[in-house]
Amino acid sequence: MPTAGSGYRGECNMSGPQHDHREKMRSRHELEQENALFYQEIMVARRASDITASLVVEQFKKMEEILHQLEDNLTTQHELRKQLAEKLQEVEEQKHKLAQARNAAEAANAAKSAFLASTSHELRTPLTSVLGFARIIQKRFEQVIVPAIGDKDHKIERATRQINDNLGIIVEEGERLTKLINNVLDLAKIESGRIEWKIEPVSIAEVIERSAAATTSLFQDKPVFLELDLADDLPPLTGDRDRLVQVVINLIANGVKFTQEGSVTCQARRENDEIVVRVIDTGIGIAEADHQHVFENFTQVTTDTLADKPSGTGLGLAICKQIIEHHHGRIWVESELGKGSVFAFTLPTRSEMAGQPAPAMRSAAAKRELDQESDRGKGKTLLIVDDEANIRELIRQELAPQGYRLLCADNGEAALRVAEKNRPDLILLDLMLPGINGYEVLAELRKRPASKQTPIIIVSILEDKEKGYASGADSYFTKPINAQALLTEIENLLGTARQRKTDQTPVDGP
Ligand code: ADP
Repeated sequence: MPTAGSGYRGECNMSGPQHDHREKMRSRHELEQENALFYQEIMVARRASDITASLVVEQFKKMEEILHQLEDNLTTQHELRKQLAEKLQEVEEQKHKLAQARNAAEAANAAKSAFLASTSHELRTPLTSVLGFARIIQKRFEQVIVPAIGDKDHKIERATRQINDNLGIIVEEGERLTKLINNVLDLAKIESGRIEWKIEPVSIAEVIERSAAATTSLFQDKPVFLELDLADDLPPLTGDRDRLVQVVINLIANGVKFTQEGSVTCQARRENDEIVVRVIDTGIGIAEADHQHVFENFTQVTTDTLADKPSGTGLGLAICKQIIEHHHGRIWVESELGKGSVFAFTLPTRSEMAGQPAPAMRSAAAKRELDQESDRGKGKTLLIVDDEANIRELIRQELAPQGYRLLCADNGEAALRVAEKNRPDLILLDLMLPGINGYEVLAELRKRPASKQTPIIIVSILEDKEKGYASGADSYFTKPINAQALLTEIENLLGTARQRKTDQTPVDGP
């Protein structure tokens, strides 16, 4: 490698040649300097290119790494996509299985409801006879046989008492069974959403007063009093009046059932946007751990605190809960063992209903007017239409002592014939008849001048009141029938019927 001062050094002349020599020397020196500079530049350029090359190599390596990473990522993404697809497939399968399970559950529920409905109906027909006849036997036994036997012979007296007690048990158990069947059917209908809700303006005060009247008899043989504490500013609400009455009756009946002595208070207050009803008793109370359970199906939590343990179905509160929740309310219990219970429920108020009179009040007033005329129904002709001989006989035995003249028909055609020929004052009509069914009979009766104004009471095991009323019936009773209620309704309707027939006289003629 050339170095400064070597290899390029020439001869030196001071003048002329010397001068030339000096010149040469100088240009040689300059050349050497230029060379050195050039050499340095080359070295710098080389170092720079070395650095650049190593940087490029480094960048390439990095790019290679990134590419590897990208490749890895792509593989992972692909894997993830595959897993996701598998998971989605699993979810779809689960969804399908769930849908199948839900369909199966719905089918099972529908089958359960249908089974309960048909079984309950099947049980009701014989139960109507058993209960109805047991009541008649009990009444006749007390009114006719017991006085005739007298009390001369102790043995006979004891046997008479025992028969009477046993009849009482049959009636009581029959009533319990009826209640159980009705409750099971009710619950099945509510749970399956097949219940007909009759939503209309309702006065809660009216609901409570009706419930109080219906439960009066429960307070007769006990030192327990029923008190009503109703605020004056209760607004009207919308709801199903009969179902709300059912709730309050159940709570009052429980209150008196689980109270030996003291009171049951039914209180209603307006609190914010709600009406709060409380049924407060001074009875045996409920342990806190049981508070939630009492609203479950078939739950009875009463310990043996009461010597004479009251019977029940364990379904009443479960039904109350369903009814209140359907009305968008809440129901709960506050209680302590030995310190009484407070069963409370809320119902939302509807401000748009304010000011409208609740129709229940009007009908109650109308009913009271009719009650005053109830005696006037006696001595009239009634037609009983039922294909079950036992039921015809049962109704006959209940009504005949009241002085009614009774005609019977065991099918629809016969009913139409008798109605046309004998023009009864009132018709008791079963729905499930052989040949033409009760609804068809009803429609035909309403078409004919002889019977279009005749009061008709449907007496059936079918619970289809809406359809019954829509088809032209004046009243509807579900079997097993409450004979006293039926009698009262007949008297009411005969009062109405007389009014209607008088109104029609100028049109129909005498
Ligand atoms: P039932 O009264 O027909 O057994 P319910 O569903 O109405 O059925 O009540 C369920 C249970 O809750 C009752 O059996 C009783 O153990 C308890 N219960 C209900 N109301 C009261 C009450 N007022 N006091 C004490 N216990 C009650």
